[in-house]
Amino acid sequence: MSSPLTVLQGVGPALATTLSRLDLFRVEDLLFLLPLRYEDRTTLNPIGSVRPGMRCLVNGEVLLAEVVYRGRRNMLVRIGDGTGQITLRFFHFSRQQQAQFQIGATVTCFGDVRPGPVGLEMVHPEYRVLRAGQSPSVSDSLTPIYPMTEGVQQGRLRNLVNQALTLMQKEAPAELLPKKILDVLALPRLSVALNYLHNPPPDVDLVSIDAGKHPCQIRLSFEELLAHYMSLRNLRHLANQESAVPLKDPAGLQQQFISGLPYTLTNAQERVVGEIAADLRQPHPMMRLIQGDVGSGKTVVAAAACAQGLSSRVQAAVMAPTELLAEQHWVSFSEWFQKFDIELAWLSGSQKQSARRNSLEAIRSGRARIIIGTHALFQEGVEFDNLALVVIDEQHRFGVHQRVALRNKGVGGSGHPHQLVMTATPIPRTLAMAAYADLDTSIIDELPPGRRPVTTIALPDTRRGEVVERVREACANGQQAYWVCPLIDESEILDYQAAEASYEMLTTALASLRVGLVHGRMKHGAKDKIMRAFKSGDVDVLVATTVIEVGVDVPNASLMIIENSERMGLSQLHQLRGRVGRGADQSHCVMLYKQPLGQLARNRLAVLRQTNDGFLVAQRDLELRGPGELLGTRQTGLPEYRIANLVRDADLMPVVQESAETILAHHKEAAAAIIRRWLGDAHQYGKV
Ligand code: ADP
Ligand code: MG
Repeated sequence: MSSPLTVLQGVGPALATTLSRLDLFRVEDLLFLLPLRYEDRTTLNPIGSVRPGMRCLVNGEVLLAEVVYRGRRNMLVRIGDGTGQITLRFFHFSRQQQAQFQIGATVTCFGDVRPGPVGLEMVHPEYRVLRAGQSPSVSDSLTPIYPMTEGVQQGRLRNLVNQALTLMQKEAPAELLPKKILDVLALPRLSVALNYLHNPPPDVDLVSIDAGKHPCQIRLSFEELLAHYMSLRNLRHLANQESAVPLKDPAGLQQQFISGLPYTLTNAQERVVGEIAADLRQPHPMMRLIQGDVGSGKTVVAAAACAQGLSSRVQAAVMAPTELLAEQHWVSFSEWFQKFDIELAWLSGSQKQSARRNSLEAIRSGRARIIIGTHALFQEGVEFDNLALVVIDEQHRFGVHQRVALRNKGVGGSGHPHQLVMTATPIPRTLAMAAYADLDTSIIDELPPGRRPVTTIALPDTRRGEVVERVREACANGQQAYWVCPLIDESEILDYQAAEASYEMLTTALASLRVGLVHGRMKHGAKDKIMRAFKSGDVDVLVATTVIEVGVDVPNASLMIIENSERMGLSQLHQLRGRVGRGADQSHCVMLYKQPLGQLARNRLAVLRQTNDGFLVAQRDLELRGPGELLGTRQTGLPEYRIANLVRDADLMPVVQESAETILAHHKEAAAAIIRRWLGDAHQYGKV
């Protein structure tokens, strides 16, 4: 089963390479390549009974075959079986094919039935012309249709899977789930499930198969979810065996930090600061996730954690996903820690060489105690003296692989750093279970006092003029506004042009106001200057691309206009809206959309009009879009599942969690084998 694919008949090095593009390397991998759908070739349908929309097998005698010219060459073959007639239509055909369809010959064909100019027809069906006396053949199980890769035909793939299934009769892949768990969940054994899914009997319940809810499918999804979950739990268990600097804060500097703030912490902030403080006092690395809606005040909680390390003379690093956000943290932290007389250092990709050298030196010597920056913080050449705490803000942009890389980067003489991960993308509980099983979770479920929910409306962009007027009025009253132009295309240039065009439009229309522009392609210094001007109230309207999506905090801004909102995801819209509603004024969000509005976009905008609660938005997002998109799978490194689907299988997560603890505790070897089967040998995390 673990042999390379080349042991199979007909697989040479070239085909093996092609198959590797479908992640198929070993014979066993073929067994886990499940069909996308099935076709029913188990019964011959009387032609008189077929209807448009059916995809089915029919058999009949050729009554007429002709080539006609209707703009292009068509070959039409009419067949009948006594119950009715149907036309086979070919746009491409060879002379040889033409010769096959002799009047009176018998043909079996499989294809989509559609209405034609004269009765029903099949366009380019799969067909076979029978020899005299030969009877039509039907399959005795449904025909599986596999995911395609260029250069491998369905028939070939089916043949290879069948070879693998035959080999499985001799040597089945190991059954790794403990019998007790299978019995309790009433799930079939692995080999039974695999056999069934590759060759389902004709009476299979296709509805449950299509929904991914057949017990044989659940059997596989369950094991896959288990594999991912256990590998993350292992990571967590490993951390408990590693050492870290306990941050005991004998001088009570954290309390001093908190009393020095211009506001009192909310109950939720205080609770979470306490949970973190307890972790940091341990001699093992903390691995904690803070979930909190936009504007719930996560930054100051992270700063309080940094303050706890001050008396231990160690370093803390704070990493933000964008320069803009890192700069904002830099400003806040500089202010907050001013009276503690410690050195802060700044590190980013766009920094000047000389400034960078200074920072690197301060970090290496240990002089810099709090270091703020982008992912540049953890690139080659950055050496910490005594890194004890890593804060990662807006974690939905970093996945488990990055988290692991960071941990290892921080390893020094005194052990692993404590890790605090913050996300403003609240995610539903079952999903969090799957995505963050390596982390403990704290939730800030309260907003600072005095916040009023942002009123949200959606308008067609034909009413842009009215919205401009509204911006004029609000700014005349001393308020400020964001005007966001999202990524129109995958192209950065278009993105920038859209913002540029809106900027031109607004500077003309609002000549009395100060309008600023920020976008991703601007030089770091220029961006910084505009942001500061907006923050200090010297710019009234900030036209921006989605660079301001996360973290940006300007409490006086109370109006958010979003162009092309129909193209954006729910969590992204919620993030953008979260830029307003931070001050004393009632805030508003206007989502402009281009007509006509599709159903999905209409649903998304409706969700935002109905609620300001990030967890609710996240739940609806999950239902509308699927978890990969919600978390930005490709960017986050959230595992891509081969068979499981987190939306469909969310209800399995509590059982997965429970079973995983049992298997990890009592069946260590099975745990290792399950992880290896689904995540391969290459995965760097979760060694048992
Ligand atoms: P987020 O959780 O989205 O990162 P921030 O940390 O940016 O939120 O905080 C949002 C705003 O709320 C900031 O202006 C911050 O100064 C303010 N803030 C945070 N905590 C409190 C509090 N306890 N009371 C009043 N304002 C607060
Ligand atoms: Mg933030």
